[in-house]
Amino acid sequence: MAETDELVEEGEGEEEDAPPVAELDPEVRARRDAALSRVRKLGDPVLRARALPVDRFDEALWSEVQRMGELMEDALGIGLAATQIGVLHRVLVYRADPEDPLTALVNPVLEWSSEETETASEGCLSIPFVHVDVERPAEVRVRALDAQGKEMEVQASGLTARVIQHEMDHLDGVLMIDRIPREERKEAMRAMREAQRAGSEIDSASDRVAQDAGDAASDADKTAPAAGEAVPDASLA
Ligand code: ZN
Repeated sequence: MAETDELVEEGEGEEEDAPPVAELDPEVRARRDAALSRVRKLGDPVLRARALPVDRFDEALWSEVQRMGELMEDALGIGLAATQIGVLHRVLVYRADPEDPLTALVNPVLEWSSEETETASEGCLSIPFVHVDVERPAEVRVRALDAQGKEMEVQASGLTARVIQHEMDHLDGVLMIDRIPREERKEAMRAMREAQRAGSEIDSASDRVAQDAGDAASDADKTAPAAGEAVPDASLA
């Protein structure tokens, strides 16, 4: 769909995904790989945990937010939640539009979301090789604190609204694959496993592999997760 193409051009299938790896400058790619290796992946129980509200707005929080911002940018992502680096704080960062400054939301609370929804392709730094179409409210209003504890309110639409919702989900242990129909989830998981198997050999062709793998394979139905259920580690090693 048109919006998907736009997202991809911005370097992102939603939050987090990067442009085709083969096109990256080697230095950028090395930095991205290093950053990605520090992001917790599907199967890590921390991704299913509910993060706790932050109550200390100190130096440590400030540097945590800085680190998250750097990691997100190095990974060529457009959003990152603290849970994705194993920190159970209700903290997220995002920059959906390269023109925008990096924004950090601490203890974000959804105040309002539109009845109108949009469906667009999302990727996730924690779920490599997978893109899924996710339907979400088109517009949201979120109340939060900044990294210094100052109250803020964000009203967002389009990609920014999508990123914020995706990241807020992470803070509750919810992943994008929980928001798609069961059949599509099975397919996505199958594609990911295939891509991971092939990935070490054909890393640079990972996007193509992920796609191809989606059309092949038929043995994984039993291991696909049920709705809302954590994916067993064993299937994702
Ligand atoms: Zn994610």
